[in-house]
Amino acid sequence: MKNLIVANWKMNPVSQEEAKNLFNDIKQRIESATAEVVICPPFVYLPVLKGLTLGAQNCFYEDKGTFTGKISAPMLKDIGVEYVIIGHSEIRKMGETDEKINKRIKSALRAGLKPILCVGENYEQKEKGETETVLKNQLAGALSGVKDAENLTVAYEPVWAISGGDPYKTKELPTAEKVGKTHSYIRNLLADMYSKEFADNIRIIYGGSSNAGNAEDYLKNGKVQGFLVGGASLKPDDFSKIVKLAE
Ligand code: PEP
Repeated sequence: MKNLIVANWKMNPVSQEEAKNLFNDIKQRIESATAEVVICPPFVYLPVLKGLTLGAQNCFYEDKGTFTGKISAPMLKDIGVEYVIIGHSEIRKMGETDEKINKRIKSALRAGLKPILCVGENYEQKEKGETETVLKNQLAGALSGVKDAENLTVAYEPVWAISGGDPYKTKELPTAEKVGKTHSYIRNLLADMYSKEFADNIRIIYGGSSNAGNAEDYLKNGKVQGFLVGGASLKPDDFSKIVKLAE
């Protein structure tokens, strides 16, 4: 299984021209990369960026209808999008529920998109020793009744490690060994929910201030199968270095 590197541009950049320049810069630098790379720009740029695999940062859970302002999974599939991030902590913070995440996962799979499900504890939960319980509840809630999840990726993102834009400024990060243990815990949960064979085929990636300086440690000592990259994905030099390290 190839490692997967996902760029989450969040609400950046603010013009189509900048988006195209950033995309093309990244494309040139990773042309010969053997790791799988997915770029998740804001929705409005998805139709104009060509030549790398695209993902959306969310999707609505109904296919069509009277839902002002929403974008559905079939619409994304129709314009060539392959992946969709679901359950990102920045969306959870705005009131997202496990029930809605579950509906989004189901609609993504129904449409033939590959969901990247984000799970992770916040600082308070970590301090209280609740990480495993949080992960168990988030996975159970998101995947309730989901049978056909071959195309699923799980992104473990400890919320307290996510940068506010600059991945080099985050003071506290989980060690690679700790991330490795947490990924094993997630894989065991998936094996309990499905089967060991199924769980072994799910990619589990890490997100939280990953950058060109710490990616190798997480890959080697945490055995992560890739990264969900926020801040560093807006820096072509940094991002392409992460991609190369993940080959
Ligand atoms: C994220 O928001 O998914 C993320 C990992 O961001 P950063 O890399 O900036 O911490």
